[in-house]
This record gives sequence, C-alpha cells and structure tokens, in this order.
Amino acid sequence: MSAALSFPVEQRSDPRSDAERETILANPGFGKTFTDHMVLATWSSDEGWHDGKITAYGPLSLDPSAAVLHYAQEIFEGMKAYRHADGSIWTFRPEANAARFQRSARRLALPALPEDDFLASLKALVAVDQAWVPSGEAGEMSLYLRPFMFASEAFLGVRPAARVTYCVIASPAGPYFSSGLKPVSIWLSSDYVRAAPGGTGAAKCGGNYAASLAAQVEAGENGCEQVAFLDGLEHRWVEELGGMNLFFVYSDGRLVTPELTGTILEGVTRGSILELAKELGHTVEERRISIDEWRDGVASGEISEVFACGTAAVVTPLGRLAWDGGEMLIGDHSVDDGVGATTAAIRQRLLDIQYGRTEDTHGWLTRLV
Ligand SMILES: *Cc1c(COP(=O)(O)O)cnc(C)c1O
Repeated sequence: MSAALSFPVEQRSDPRSDAERETILANPGFGKTFTDHMVLATWSSDEGWHDGKITAYGPLSLDPSAAVLHYAQEIFEGMKAYRHADGSIWTFRPEANAARFQRSARRLALPALPEDDFLASLKALVAVDQAWVPSGEAGEMSLYLRPFMFASEAFLGVRPAARVTYCVIASPAGPYFSSGLKPVSIWLSSDYVRAAPGGTGAAKCGGNYAASLAAQVEAGENGCEQVAFLDGLEHRWVEELGGMNLFFVYSDGRLVTPELTGTILEGVTRGSILELAKELGHTVEERRISIDEWRDGVASGEISEVFACGTAAVVTPLGRLAWDGGEMLIGDHSVDDGVGATTAAIRQRLLDIQYGRTEDTHGWLTRLV
C-alpha cells in the first residue's frame, strides 16, 4: 500500500521553555509528560486517509457518541526514539510495528495505515520535537512514541466506524519500573484470562488492557507487581504478562518462550531476543510451556532465570511467582541483585544495539533525525 498522507507542521505558539523542558527531562518518569506536538490524521470511508498534520499537543474534541467511547474500537503501538552519542536519533524495527499496527487494525475492523505513512508520521513528530529526546544512554532514557487509532465517528450503531482518527503522542521516558532494574513479583491469575482463541489477544488493542486490570488489582492485593496469564481453554499453558512476553532460561543454556498461538501478542522485543540469544550461543525453543513445568523447573533448579520483555521495560527479571495457595522465589537470590547472568547479557546486548554502542548487524535501526 503506498503512502497517502503528508504531515505539514502547525508550530505551536506556546512551546515549553528550554528550562521547563530540561527540568522534565531530568526526571521524566514514564508516560507522565508529553512533548509540545502530536500527529493527527483522519480516515473516512469516503475519502480514505487525509488531513495529516503535526499540531500542538492538547485535548481532542470528541462527540460523546464517538464509537470508541462505547465499543472500544481502538488499537495502539509502543516504540522508542533513542539518541545516540553523536546526537542522531534512531528507532528500532519500526517496520515491524507498522506491520503489527496493520494486523491489529484488521482484527479491530479499522482501516490499515500504510507503512510509509506510519514511519513518516514518526519522523515528522520527532523532527519537530527532537529537543525532547533525552540524551542518555545512562539511565536508559528515550522518547516513548505512542501511535494509536480509534473510531471517532459519532454513531451508536454497532458496525465498524466510517470515521477514524490516527494520533501519535510522545513522552520522554526513564526506566518503566521506577524502582530500576530489580526483579518483579508476579501473580498467577486463576480467575481471569487475557485472551481466548479467536479473540483479540494477538492485537495490540486497548480492550485487552482494560480486561487485564481487574487481574492487576488482584495482583496488588496479593503483594505482586504484575500478572501472568494462562491460556483460556485449559488454564494450563503459560501465555504472557498483561503487556510483556515471557522467556524461561534453563540451566543447560536453553531459552524457551511460549509459541505464538494466536492468543499471545507478538512482541518486537520477543522476536529480537530470539535472534540475539542464538547469536549469544543459546538454543531457543518456541513451544508451549505449562505452569507445572514452570513451577517444577524453578523448584528443581532446571529453570534458572525467568524474564519478561517489551519495548517499554526492555528486559525485566522475574523474582517471585505467587498464586492462590503458594509462592516461590525464582533465580538465585543469594547472589547480588537477583538479576541472572543470561537475563543481564541479553538485556545489555539489546540496549547496546538500540543506543548505537555496537554495530547494528541486523539493520534493525532506522534514523529519525
Ligand atoms: C506491546 C505488548 C508486548 C510487547 O511487545 P513489544 O513489541 O516487544 O513492545 C507484549 N505483550 C503485550 C500484551 C503487549 O501489548
């Protein structure tokens, strides 16, 4: 599909001052503050994609009957812009995100955005707001990019919307977990599932996240930070966390990740780690792994590390698994910080590529500015 849009810049008249911006960049947190501009574009069944622009970041005006507010016809992506030591700004495998955005669109009956338009929108936004990309390999600073698309047609009938809005916002980001790189605790949900066969589990849509929140609350009530979901049919096969894929490191050096069954989100980080792990000498397996294999493997020591991965939090070790009636520690807590050697090596390798500290032999980086 060829590009359909252009993104002329409507420069805002009241951007934040250099001093304000620097204060925010010194301690951005995650997802709390946004840059001066955003991308907007509209799709209608009559005109297709049109009215692309860069405009001032600010509230959207929506009719109360806008379909997204009632039927959740919405999808999103999550990516990062990284500033390299020479000042240039790059992003990681954007064509994979563009392709996934199209797959998510198909599943949610939204219009496909051409890959070239997706990439052009990111380039246009990061160019105008480039001062918002933190310098900083130290502390893993980046500019988090959030493209999303939703049904903006004012209509309460149940059918795919004839009017859709595409938007990209950008948020300077430090580490996703404010506590830094430290193992997270996981609640194994037995009451809730995230996705079922034929459902939307493989699409990146807001509805999946809405449906995961009650489980997240349950995790908190049980002293855990994140939730692991099992499959919806047998409640036996490990799928993923609410927003991150899972990897199991075996003491013989194998890496196992749940295979893509249609109910798991195909993470760009997951796919990249599968390739990097092979290059680091690991055997990798994509297959089903049961909750019994997880618990027994940790108990026997056969599974030595477990980590979660995704763009926002990169690679995060799991330190504890709890469920209704029990809990266990994961990994060796007698040593240092509980971050396993394989988890740390894979994380480092990925960050080195993203921040341009090592050669990008895969051609994974795209220059934005
Ligand atoms: C976004 C997401 C991931 C991670 O995907 P990345 O492309 O690696 O950022 C994993 N699981 C779910 C449910 C997600 O929404």
